[in-house]
Amino acid sequence: MKITRKGFLRAVAGGGMASGLGALMPVSLFAAAQAEKKRRPTITSVEAAPFSVPLHSEAKVALGVAVTADNVLIRLRTTDGTIGYGEVSAYSPVMSETQASDLALARPLGSLLLGRDPFELPRLLDAMTRTSPRSAGIIAAFEMALWDLCGKIAGQPVYRLLGAAKESFETDCTVFLGSPEEMARLAVGLAGEGFPAVKIKLGEAPALDIDRVRAIREAVGPKVRLWCDANQGWSVSDALVALRGIGPYGLEFCEQPVQAWDWNGLHRVRADSPIPIMADEAVHSPHDAIEGLRHDAFDMINIKLMKAGGILPAVRIAHIAAAANVPCMVGCMAETRLALTAAAHVVMSQAIIRWADLDAYHEMTVDPCSGGMKVERGVVTLPDTPGLGVEMDPAIVKKLKAVA
Ligand SMILES: [Mg+2]
Repeated sequence: MKITRKGFLRAVAGGGMASGLGALMPVSLFAAAQAEKKRRPTITSVEAAPFSVPLHSEAKVALGVAVTADNVLIRLRTTDGTIGYGEVSAYSPVMSETQASDLALARPLGSLLLGRDPFELPRLLDAMTRTSPRSAGIIAAFEMALWDLCGKIAGQPVYRLLGAAKESFETDCTVFLGSPEEMARLAVGLAGEGFPAVKIKLGEAPALDIDRVRAIREAVGPKVRLWCDANQGWSVSDALVALRGIGPYGLEFCEQPVQAWDWNGLHRVRADSPIPIMADEAVHSPHDAIEGLRHDAFDMINIKLMKAGGILPAVRIAHIAAAANVPCMVGCMAETRLALTAAAHVVMSQAIIRWADLDAYHEMTVDPCSGGMKVERGVVTLPDTPGLGVEMDPAIVKKLKAVA
């Protein structure tokens, strides 16, 4: 059948009228707008609550002593009722933040998120960082809550959004400063719990630190992997004495032997150390990672969400390190299993992250989280739950108050 142009136009107009297309248009547009709203929920509420968790014992490192974890919980909610959780554990000697300063910043930072689509995450992170550039911990709390929302809206665990690189990984557990005998006793206990590696806090007098490592190696035997962390406690010359002294005991690396700002000192220690050097307090951000690489100052980087300002900056550090062939660890402050689980999602997504030090939960007298990362004999796994996959203790959730 031959169709003329006139006939075609008549047929189209007739069809349109027959189906009531003109009348349906506004309805379909309305439906599309509704579907769009459902597909792209926006943030309608921002809440914060301080909470504290007592530790089993005094956690002493070269920078000071902690007896409680004093943290802040963040909760975001979207137009479709999705909830995202985030947490900051402020450690002021490293982060220059406290629980009180983080609470004070929750309002100006949280107000930047109101009405916004959580998938705008990089833009929102940038806005928060410009508003308060030296507040990585509270920014990390908001940023991980955004990831929690994105994962839940997408129906995927966060590590799958980042790119799944592994199915499980190992974490160590830490022995804090004490006498050599006491530290050796605790290290044996951790090895008995199945942890494949023990991190030894050091950073005091080199002779005492060498005694600590010797006592621990003799007590745990040759199979338990040992790491150490001086938390900036040594001078360059002390570091070299201490590192040469502990050299024979088979440690995998030493974290942050000298002051965080001393790139040249770190470079000098690394050049003469018998064991590899890992930067921790010296590298907060992706910029620090590049600065350290310029100074040829470390063999590895310890990435922490609380220093970096969240999951995305942590991944950026891992990418910089991967491009420079520098392996990384992911560590933690005194975070509950909420922020620890966020860190575990990062570990799961990056092959260049070869070590994990996600042990803060072990020191806590109560676990205010359900779901999230599981640790069995030092092996960490994540649930298939969308988002971060963590629920918080209702008693803490009840304390949440609107900040924006
Ligand atoms: Mg450290």
